[in-house]
Amino acid sequence: MSFVQLNHIVKSFKHQEVLKDISLEIPEGQIFGLLGPSGSGKTTLIKIMLGLLKPSDGTAVIEDTVMPSLKQMRSIGYMAQSDALYSELTARENLLFFASIYGIRKSRRKRRVEDIAKMVDLTDHLDKKLAAFSGGMLRRMSLAAALMHYPKLLVLDEPTVGIDPVLRASIWKDLKNLQNQGTTIIITTHVMDEAEKCDCLAMLRNGRIIAQGSPAELQEASKSSTLEEAFLYYG
Ligand code: ADP
Repeated sequence: MSFVQLNHIVKSFKHQEVLKDISLEIPEGQIFGLLGPSGSGKTTLIKIMLGLLKPSDGTAVIEDTVMPSLKQMRSIGYMAQSDALYSELTARENLLFFASIYGIRKSRRKRRVEDIAKMVDLTDHLDKKLAAFSGGMLRRMSLAAALMHYPKLLVLDEPTVGIDPVLRASIWKDLKNLQNQGTTIIITTHVMDEAEKCDCLAMLRNGRIIAQGSPAELQEASKSSTLEEAFLYYG
């Protein structure tokens, strides 16, 4: 069954049509990659899925609920490119804050923060201020915050931008673990070895999906020997 279904989504800002008849289905438990150059419409599409923007036409349906729906928005975790984290507070204080705004019961917050910190490998840093964190540690903090309320759908906008390959690999390990627990994940990326790890990819150009399929299918259909070459082919 599809967890996310987009039906003929159109979005215009004033006279500019930035999304043009986008339809796609994302099965439950899949890691789905959205690829496309800057300005192709990825963030706008994500915001429509999240219920932060209304489409001009068409519908975004998550688990049988048409977005925007407050109930469904609570089951989504969103990791934006830059998050509102408090650099003068410790990691623990930041996560306790997210636990409270996400409605985790007070008696459970301390335990939840410790479990989440363990999941993203920040246990040893919980009592440090974020001001002392590296870029990679901050990305892990953002992931922890997005996971706080046990989301069924996790949406990540370029989650590993600006971090080194070792940390990128460890974030991917977290994502695969979440997938194994049944979480559906949507990710935007420019990084080729991330695209290869997705179950399915959609390539956006000027507000349209120009190719869609598994990395292997896209590669084969373009008769390319690497995914990078395939992207150039669809370019
Ligand atoms: P991407 O995430 O792929 O870089 P975006 O979805 O951010 O693309 O943007 C797609 C297009 O929509 C761009 O041309 C951008 O200028 C335009 N756009 C995005 N948000 C707005 C807005 N709030 N008002 C007007 N134009 C916008």
